[in-house]
Amino acid sequence: MDSKIKVGIIGGGQLGMMMLQEANFDIASYTVLESSSDCPASPYCQNLIIGSLNDANAIEQLAAVSDVLTWEIEHINVDALIQLEAQGKNIIPKPLVLKMIQDKGAQKLFFQANNIPTAPFELVDSTMLAAVDFSKFPQNKIVVKTRTGGYDGKGVSICNKSDVQNGIIPFEGSVLLEQFVEDVLELAVIVAVDQHGNKSSFPSIEMYFNAQSNLVEFLYSPAQIAIDVEIKAREIAESVIQAFQSPGLFAVELFLTRSGEILVNEIAPRPHNSGHHTIEGCVTSQFAQLNRILLGQELGNSTLKQPSAMLNIVGPENLIGGYQLENEDMWKQQTDVFIHMYGKTESRPNRKLGHVTVIADTFEKLIERAEYVKENMTIIPS
Ligand code: ADP
Repeated sequence: MDSKIKVGIIGGGQLGMMMLQEANFDIASYTVLESSSDCPASPYCQNLIIGSLNDANAIEQLAAVSDVLTWEIEHINVDALIQLEAQGKNIIPKPLVLKMIQDKGAQKLFFQANNIPTAPFELVDSTMLAAVDFSKFPQNKIVVKTRTGGYDGKGVSICNKSDVQNGIIPFEGSVLLEQFVEDVLELAVIVAVDQHGNKSSFPSIEMYFNAQSNLVEFLYSPAQIAIDVEIKAREIAESVIQAFQSPGLFAVELFLTRSGEILVNEIAPRPHNSGHHTIEGCVTSQFAQLNRILLGQELGNSTLKQPSAMLNIVGPENLIGGYQLENEDMWKQQTDVFIHMYGKTESRPNRKLGHVTVIADTFEKLIERAEYVKENMTIIPS
């Protein structure tokens, strides 16, 4: 009989692929559920179940062949997972955490109830904006977010306060109004919790987003912040995850304000784009860490080995179809540049096709080299 631990992953995108690239196949085997067979994770897993991530039957089929289940994407049928957990299935993180995170409003209420610092907010129906007390939004801008279904900035709009007061917002239904945090520095801290409740966080990450696509364009770790701010950021990130009372790997997105306040923006209960540099940058990557958690092992060492940066490789605006990385062989020969392509067959504008990690001995060299890579690495038609 096969004594390997059977892991089921809901979703076969690049996050699942990178989990599998760091898997310990001596002790575990992996089944992935995805809607299409040519997904990034498919070449790396033992079994692939083709089905919708929203189909309870497909999720049950995956559960039937798995000892432990996890997900790599948030927009899935969480009610099916809640039922499976009630029947005794080991699901990491706990499905109730995902249920709450799927609703940005519920997430904000959770932060509030647990005294986690977060930007002031109001939950309201888009037809009832006149009833809102706007005094908690002193800026002339207000951030409007759809409560469910948003990702990568889709579902987020920075609106003029006067428009919101006049009922003019780009979303319908239940929305989250949030105070606009000016001149914000965006940080992320990845927190890992093992099945015994032990936790560990990775050094903080400083992130820069593309203004048009809202995707992370560039990040580095360690964040260039004072040591007391680093300690506080990690403390806050660990305390919000502690409040979940759940094993798992979580990315905590933070805002550092001009006055030095740290606010929790939102949590991703899965490996995250902000942690891709950990593959080469840290002793244990975010993906290896999650595998360890799923297999009931102790957490690995999350120390950063040297300053590390990451750039996403995304589809150019004018290209739909076959693509290649220009001079890929030359880039692959560099000893301080690590290319990860996700094996997607077609490029589309702003589609995440891969990422590149850059490492250096010093922060100054890191930025210089990362900027060179950013200027010179190009996706071209194949
Ligand atoms: P998503 O879940 O789509 O990533 P976020 O809530 O993280 O949405 O918002 C996307 C981006 O919008 C953030 O990374 C940040 O740049 C900006 N943003 C979100 N909320 C605020 C805010 N309250 N103040 C200023 N900028 C914000």
